[in-house]
Amino acid sequence: PEGTDNSERHRICREDIVVGRILGEGFFGEVHDGIYKSPTGERISVAIKTCKDCSADVKEKFLSEAGLMKDLDHPHIVRLIGVIEVDPVWIVMELYEHGELGNYLVQQQYTLTIATLILYCLQICKALAYLEGLNMVHRDIAVRNVLVASPKCVKLGDFGLSRYVDEHEYYKASVSRLPIKWMAPESINFRRFTTASDVWMFGVCVWETFSMAQQPFFWLENGQVINQLESGVRLPKPQLCPPAIYSLLTRCWAYEPNVRPSFSQLVCSLRYTHYCTRVF
Ligand code: ADP
Repeated sequence: PEGTDNSERHRICREDIVVGRILGEGFFGEVHDGIYKSPTGERISVAIKTCKDCSADVKEKFLSEAGLMKDLDHPHIVRLIGVIEVDPVWIVMELYEHGELGNYLVQQQYTLTIATLILYCLQICKALAYLEGLNMVHRDIAVRNVLVASPKCVKLGDFGLSRYVDEHEYYKASVSRLPIKWMAPESINFRRFTTASDVWMFGVCVWETFSMAQQPFFWLENGQVINQLESGVRLPKPQLCPPAIYSLLTRCWAYEPNVRPSFSQLVCSLRYTHYCTRVF
């Protein structure tokens, strides 16, 4: 509505939420499912993120994810419903019943088709092209951070490490949480995160998808990864991965960030391979 900014639009009342069972453990606290009754009377299934440590600085970090999500509106990005900013603080999101893509790939490995796997990659890529247009870097692209809304629709989530790119500040708790095996060489070496390093991570996420959620470089220790990357070693082609897609991945894994394709270019290429897979 006119005259309401994003923070007002996302202010909701705790009385309108019925909390259900525990879905999982998040970094800051338990995540529950529940039902939210919207001002229009609609009942929406939601996921409720809670924060067990209510000190001011932890709370601020917890709520920073929601702060970024407020500005986002895309069919393949997890939708924020609202935030409750008084203790106990909650972040309320749309619920995606099928859970994390990583687990879903393992459960459905014998039923998923190549066309569907390409579709998931295309949808994640579209979400990232949207972020690229907003100058936002995600920094944690992996199948564990993608949720499955329906068998033909995935949503990119977990903006806990995301930042607008012109901001040079770092997430304090991140050093121990950094996902080394997903990271571009310049991110490992210099903590440098840009849209180009997101492109590298997206390549790793596509690799995970076609590997049915195997861990990238599971045969290496974190500490060995950078030496391998610098000597030119890359993740091998997963058996199910079409050669045209693997060739895109090798471009996403160019050592020089400025040589990697953009997300909008990747959307075009993936759309074409998806089309071909369905037609031929
Ligand atoms: P954090 O990023 O704070 O560590 P996660 O986003 O990983 O927390 O959430 C923890 C658990 O809750 C995960 O297992 C995830 O599958 C589940 N979860 C989080 N958000 C949703 C959602 N919108 N729909 C369904 N499940 C969710």
